[in-house]
Amino acid sequence: MADKDTTSFMRSLCMGQIEQDVLFPFPALSADQKATLHEITGAIDDLLSPRAEDFRRWDVAGEMPADFIEELSQFGLFGLVIPEAYEGMGLGSMAYSRTLQEVGRHDATVAVTIGAHSSIGMRGLLLFGTEEQKQRYLPDLATGERIAAFCLTEAGAGSDAAAIKTSAVKQDDHWLLNGSKLWITNGGIANFFTVFARTAPEDGRGKMTAFIVTGEMEGVSVGPHEDKMGLRANPTTTVLLDDVKVPLENVLGEPGKGFKVAMKILNSGRTGLGGGSIGGMKRLIGLATRQANERKTFGEPISSYGLIKEKVGRMVIDCYTSEAVVTMVGGLIDAGYEEYAVEAAISKVYATECLWRTADEALQIAGGNGFMREYPYERIVRDCRINRIFEGSNEILRLFIALTAMNDVACQLRELAATMKGVFNDPSKGFGVLSDYGRKHARLRTGLGGASKLENLHEAIQPQADLFETETRYLAQATDRILRKHGKNIIGKQFATKRLAEIMIDLFVLASTLSRVQNSIEANGVEAASREIDILRVFTREARVRMKQNFRRIDNNDDELLKALADDAFEAERYRWDTI
Ligand SMILES: Cc1cc2nc3c(=O)[nH]c(=O)nc-3n(C[C@H](O)[C@H](O)[C@H](O)COP(=O)(O)OP(=O)(O)OC[C@H]3O[C@@H](n4cnc5c(N)ncnc54)[C@H](O)[C@@H]3O)c2cc1C
Repeated sequence: MADKDTTSFMRSLCMGQIEQDVLFPFPALSADQKATLHEITGAIDDLLSPRAEDFRRWDVAGEMPADFIEELSQFGLFGLVIPEAYEGMGLGSMAYSRTLQEVGRHDATVAVTIGAHSSIGMRGLLLFGTEEQKQRYLPDLATGERIAAFCLTEAGAGSDAAAIKTSAVKQDDHWLLNGSKLWITNGGIANFFTVFARTAPEDGRGKMTAFIVTGEMEGVSVGPHEDKMGLRANPTTTVLLDDVKVPLENVLGEPGKGFKVAMKILNSGRTGLGGGSIGGMKRLIGLATRQANERKTFGEPISSYGLIKEKVGRMVIDCYTSEAVVTMVGGLIDAGYEEYAVEAAISKVYATECLWRTADEALQIAGGNGFMREYPYERIVRDCRINRIFEGSNEILRLFIALTAMNDVACQLRELAATMKGVFNDPSKGFGVLSDYGRKHARLRTGLGGASKLENLHEAIQPQADLFETETRYLAQATDRILRKHGKNIIGKQFATKRLAEIMIDLFVLASTLSRVQNSIEANGVEAASREIDILRVFTREARVRMKQNFRRIDNNDDELLKALADDAFEAERYRWDTI
């Protein structure tokens, strides 16, 4: 059995090891949990369905009325992940994600308002809060009496979060905070802020510290509601901290450990954004299929044309596979796995990009109507564009996914070097470790490990399982090869790093989908699962082509030419050519 404290499916995979029991069986909710979720999602439908026209008006006006936020509070939507002991609903990650899916099916702005509160705004309190802090704030956060916001970004610190300048200076019985946080979702309605500030060296080694700041504290103020491309009704604002006295007991986690706190919050909250993305895709598939059935050109409904079927077929595959991945990550968190950051990052990148493709293609199916504000498509496109930028941009997450894996392999290589030294001093002592490493390494180099197989899958999906095993061996070899080629310089080799990340994304989506389809076959039989098997087949075939291309281009590519073209453009700061 996998050790839940240390095992990460993807990190093991990069060393050629398939930890099957982590992903199989596909995670499922209990019958009781399912019944509760049915009640919740039904009630959400009743609450939000009549509001479709309001959501459209609020987007144009760029505001969400206070009485609607009060309705969300009354419903309990701000208490979804807060334990029942603190007056919340106590949903686990899978159930939370499924609930946000339902909200996201109606309106992305409402989903983000609830998500910013639960996934990131007060998640630090859940993960790192003391009992006293929890008692003090969680009940009000559960009822919506307090709404939470996550305050990390600053004008000079977005992706490079460690560059924040907001300062926290320790004085007698409090910390004095000064700084300005940018683009804070819920800023205009929040009165509970998880704020990250730089502490002076003597107070926490000059690193980042997380604080609970409340709206009542003197010196806290917010700027105007930003005029945004999408999610326009959410009050996104700056949050200003001017000589704010924060009590010593409001530190979240340990002083100086704020960066870890921020990363853990973002990792843990990713199933919320994933759930919202799936809700968006389900809505778009409904809209696009109705539109395609109704619209006739050349005497036939456009749903009869191959080019439209191709788009809708892909939407279905994107939605099913995203749901597999996001549910899988929720399941890992609920099962108590500690090392799920890489898998969570993959789920965020994958689901947000599937939603983006789906929204774009649904708008295309609607033709000119799709461009009109009267129809919902353009708003959905505007609303979902931010998903690829916030909560870790998809570029930064791709680097994180691949570099984490390469770091693990590099540690193995260092271990080997260290072991070799020991072996010369005392050969008998080193032998076990060395032969173990040797076996593992032989597997990396030759792909002949043998132990890493997917076992007991239904024969209907065996070809896809076989492909997964083969590509896993190539992945382990490629990780090893890239690392040997670039060594420490890998940090600057983003083309190679991105290729590795793309392969890892395809493999995790494939593994999660295999698990989901296997589960469906076991539960309903191969006949009933035939459409799901088709989804798996098409995804696998296309993923194989992508992976082959990515493997090939690691060594044979135009990276240097592309870089030269970009550098040339950066130098000129314009396009150089013209036809006149
Ligand atoms: C609507 C909205 C809501 C937001 N809500 C919140 C919130 O509630 N709380 C909060 O703290 N923040 C929030 N943010 C901020 C958001 O998290 C940041 O915008 C995001 O982290 C990206 O930072 P940046 O905008 O400074 O872009 P930059 O960091 O300047 O990046 C610009 C581009 O360069 C890429 N890039 C950067 N560094 C690298 C690199 N090393 N290698 C390759 N590519 C790189 C990025 O991927 C991006 O494409 C919000 C932003 C928006 C627009």
